[in-house]
Amino acid sequence: MSKPVLQIEKLSKSYELGKRTVPALSNLDLTVNAGEFVAIMGPSGSGKTTLLNVIGCIDKPTSGRVLLDGIDVATLAENQLYKIRRDKMGFVFQTFNLLPYLNARENVELPMEGRIKSKSDRKKKASDLLAMVGLSGRESHRPQRLSAGEQQRVAIARALANDPAYILADEPTGNLDSENKQGIIKLLANLNLTQGTTIIMVTHDTQAARNTERMLLLKDGKIVKEVQGLHANKKNQKCPYCNNNIQSTDEKCPTCKKSIYATEELF
Ligand code: ADP
Ligand code: MG
Repeated sequence: MSKPVLQIEKLSKSYELGKRTVPALSNLDLTVNAGEFVAIMGPSGSGKTTLLNVIGCIDKPTSGRVLLDGIDVATLAENQLYKIRRDKMGFVFQTFNLLPYLNARENVELPMEGRIKSKSDRKKKASDLLAMVGLSGRESHRPQRLSAGEQQRVAIARALANDPAYILADEPTGNLDSENKQGIIKLLANLNLTQGTTIIMVTHDTQAARNTERMLLLKDGKIVKEVQGLHANKKNQKCPYCNNNIQSTDEKCPTCKKSIYATEELF
């Protein structure tokens, strides 16, 4: 059994909005093991981004505990949290968040500063990462000269700059058309499979979520259901209903004919 990299115990988070308290997460428990590919799904406002921000040590819980590699993050000082974010986590956002005045390679190099001393080593590593996400030849393009799908690939290369143990992705396919969406999911799935990177991906898109291994459904700040997914890049997977062989692209199980992950069945 692989070991837990993330343990969340009785996590609650609320925001103070003037005199009102807005609950975002309530009494949530979650364990994620090393090497898992997890989707956090749920309607808008269900607490997905809040959960990801708490996992990413960007936001603090109101109550409850978050353990990363067994360490309670509440016991860490701000500079230690910064180092964990920089060295262990790669972030991917819906809006890519690339710096417009830097080219693709420079965007990827940026998080390496302070960690990799030699400029030429940073350059080489950024080029290798861009090649890995399928962007050789696009290195000197600024974001505005790249398509949305290409910009998200640069953002994923940037997230990998410091060889993170986890990738935290908030709606990474939210601004992409269906073809690019599929490409990004395949890329993440491939990273998970070949490098063993743990991936926690927030999405409200069933198509994106079904290609992970584990879907958690969030409603009103609680995990209300957990469903097995079909990893985009794994072979020999089984139907979650009848356990016969199935392809990750199958809409219906070829054996039991049940439809796989229709939105209305999930929620
Ligand atoms: P999701 O990502 O699933 O759409 P969020 O985590 O962004 O949901 O939001 C969960 C709830 O918390 C919502 O009711 C939202 O309005 C509220 N919320 C989120 N961030 C803030 C904030 N900074 N201040 C006040 N309320 C917030
Ligand atoms: Mg959100």
